[in-house]
Amino acid sequence: MNDEQLLRYSRHILLPQIGIEGQARLLAARALVIGAGGLGSPVALYLASAGVGAITLCDNEDVTNLQRQIVHRTASVGRKKVDSARDTLAAINPEVKVEALAERVDGKRLETLAASHDVVIDGSDNFATRHAVNRACVKLKKPLVSGAAVRFDGQVAVFDLRTPGSACYACLFPEAGESEDVRCAVMGVFAPLTGIVGSIQAAEALKLLAGAGETLAGRLLLLDALTMQVRTIRLAKDPACPVCGKS
Ligand SMILES: [Zn+2]
Repeated sequence: MNDEQLLRYSRHILLPQIGIEGQARLLAARALVIGAGGLGSPVALYLASAGVGAITLCDNEDVTNLQRQIVHRTASVGRKKVDSARDTLAAINPEVKVEALAERVDGKRLETLAASHDVVIDGSDNFATRHAVNRACVKLKKPLVSGAAVRFDGQVAVFDLRTPGSACYACLFPEAGESEDVRCAVMGVFAPLTGIVGSIQAAEALKLLAGAGETLAGRLLLLDALTMQVRTIRLAKDPACPVCGKS
């Protein structure tokens, strides 16, 4: 680490749980962020400011919802979200290598991308993408930091199949289940809720990458922003889960 890096990351280096070693791990790490909207914005901002070496952003939509998508600026309306986000991240921390993929990733493409990253952070807004991301992470045993925010309700979980007996996203929300797709676009979402949930996702991803503390693996964090109550419930693996049942 050079002097500039030691200065920039000094407040992380001062933390004994991170230190020089943990910061060096962050600088060498690669994070895949699915979605550059309400959740992906704070995730990407914190990963970049914390010095995660390479960040790949995937989102095929244009910038519209500035109410909660804080990585974008008014001048970016109409541009691809990933291009707008890449410019903001470059202004915050030019050291970070940001790859902007303006595509809706699925299946094999997701597997290829997940294979070349250390952690996957899902900030997508629909069950089809969440399940596709989960399948790729289960198959490749990549830690997945999952988040959701709609109306005033937020959820965060970490699924880390590197630990035997861990649940996956599909153990919690079966693919064949009656999962109603309550999208922010239709249902409304309290702006800072996406910031809170996305920031928790960023914290979990940074802990996973730096090797600090204990993650939410095996637990689901539920947040009600209307009463500001937070609780966590334990997650059990479903032995009959068609996605992770045999792993
Ligand atoms: Zn499962």
